Amino acid sequence: MIIRKSFKFENAHIVRGCSTQRCRASLHGHSYKVEVLFESQYLDNGQMVYDFGLMKQGMKELIDSFDHSIALWDGDDEAYIADMKRHSQRWVQLPVSPSAEQFSRVIFVMIDKLMWFTKTVNGEKMVRLSSIIVHETETGYAQCFREDAYSDIMGLIDLDKIYFSDEICQEWNDPKLWERVKSGEGFTNPTTV
Ligand SMILES: [Zn+2]
Repeated sequence: MIIRKSFKFENAHIVRGCSTQRCRASLHGHSYKVEVLFESQYLDNGQMVYDFGLMKQGMKELIDSFDHSIALWDGDDEAYIADMKRHSQRWVQLPVSPSAEQFSRVIFVMIDKLMWFTKTVNGEKMVRLSSIIVHETETGYAQCFREDAYSDIMGLIDLDKIYFSDEICQEWNDPKLWERVKSGEGFTNPTTV
């Protein structure tokens, strides 16, 4: 069975090298919708695959990091990156360009890592991240499956090269959330949310 939870955020970017002149040469924003799909053949103690309430913690916080922030590709012009960081408190630096395709891959590896190190306490079993869908506009989206997220062809995404600005980290329940996820420290789901 597959379950799906939607999240939303507003984000600004430039996608260098794309075919659309406006998109590759001008800073602009989109109202993104992200769908997180989980699958399992089992049900937990509440006869659910995974309680949606549990997704309001680290998962929502990580995705919400992109809200009202600017996504920067570390391969972009150095002066541009420095200027954006100087003038915007909320920014996320990525090792890939912030196209919808790469956004879906980045969010996949982030959530996958988070889930891998989350200790479940309500009988959840074999819950696997199935795919991430990133809607950049009303009519266009990218869907990332596991084989896309860890594809050598598209390039492996190094979690250590994803940086969140201090202002973003300070809004998390635990400012060290990303460090905890990356190190594998993770956290234990509460018994009630
Ligand atoms: Zn765009």
